[in-house]
Amino acid sequence: MSIEKLNQVLLHASARVGANLDEWRAGPGIDGLEKALGRVGGGESIVEMIKAAGLLGLGGSGFPTWRKWEAMAARPGQGDKYLICNGNEDEPGTFKDRLLMEECPHQLIEGATIAALAVGANKVIFYVNPHLKAALQAMELAVEEWLACELPKRVGEALGRPVEYCVVRSSGHYIGGEESAAISTIEGSFPFPRRKPPYPVESGVHGHPTLINNVETLSNVPHILRNGVEWYRDRGLGEACGTKIYSLSGDVLHPGAYELPMGTPLSELVYHYGGGMLVGKELKAVFTGGPSNTILTPKDIDVPMDYPSVAARHSALGTGAMIVVSEGTGIVKRVTEYVNFFAESSCGQCPSCKTGTYYISLLLDKIDTGRGTRSDLDSLESLCRILPGSGRCHLVDGAVKVLESSLYHFRGEYEQALL
Ligand code: SF4
Repeated sequence: MSIEKLNQVLLHASARVGANLDEWRAGPGIDGLEKALGRVGGGESIVEMIKAAGLLGLGGSGFPTWRKWEAMAARPGQGDKYLICNGNEDEPGTFKDRLLMEECPHQLIEGATIAALAVGANKVIFYVNPHLKAALQAMELAVEEWLACELPKRVGEALGRPVEYCVVRSSGHYIGGEESAAISTIEGSFPFPRRKPPYPVESGVHGHPTLINNVETLSNVPHILRNGVEWYRDRGLGEACGTKIYSLSGDVLHPGAYELPMGTPLSELVYHYGGGMLVGKELKAVFTGGPSNTILTPKDIDVPMDYPSVAARHSALGTGAMIVVSEGTGIVKRVTEYVNFFAESSCGQCPSCKTGTYYISLLLDKIDTGRGTRSDLDSLESLCRILPGSGRCHLVDGAVKVLESSLYHFRGEYEQALL
């Protein structure tokens, strides 16, 4: 599909298409669920369809969605099965899920319901960051509307048991978005990430099988069921499937959330949709996927923004956040700010994460303020080697990734700042 033929799918051409249930049903809504209801127990399964469509986890992992769904569907027994829609979005520079929840909450509810049918989940939880006030309010109202219509009853009949829906407020911590931390919160505890295995599909909320998907991922599902696998695959460019919402911010003329074909070149996003750099500014770098990922420099501006293509440039697409910085921006200062965010977000369970992010933050601050020595720079490099993989979750890895990438691309700025 060419960019000229772009057809916004999730955010829709006009916003608020699915702000209330009547609007959603009058527009693109509920056809996908009707088709899903027709597939339960016969024909190509919903999981097979999602697999053929190539839907990926769009919360940052890029992991094939069907794998988790298949594992969840295979869990035996008549006990509770949970589906969590993860709307904790708290990564700096990422602002897509809040829009989907604010503008099209019924799209998400329909997607979650289809997922519940596919995997046999009877408890659907919309897990929302309370700092996203408009999104939280929209989801609470939409779930209320949903429960008052006939659809939950029909879904329950197809599943063979009633389906419950609720909205749960996360703790508002960044770490609360991590899968096992979300489970802890829903169980009423502090959002401490847990060791894996067991994975949530094996033992999640109160020990029950639990599927966790991001808001953007689930919002795609009704459209795949409604329009078919080929239609979805054709939304992407090259080998990529579907669309992606890119959160563009920083030194561009038109920052915003842009839903574009998956695989759109970064240059198109920055210079066409984003209007180019602020007047008089030159592109220096793009923090891709938010601060927990890596940096791309102008030589990579042509990179197609899909998971494998960005990975091939030693970076990561992550949530699709693209933070653009211009010449004149101090990379050491920017990385210090990001690492401070991670240090403050650490839950403190793992000594390597608690002390590691603290020391990185301390050393970076020393270098950024002109007090750093050669030995401080050596210590930073040594921490980059020691820390990855040492925590229960990926927070410490994220802090190291952005530091390591900045050292790779902008080592000269660190050297110049030393005493
Ligand atoms: Fe907590 Fe950090 Fe350990 Fe993750 S890696 S569980 S944030 S201490």
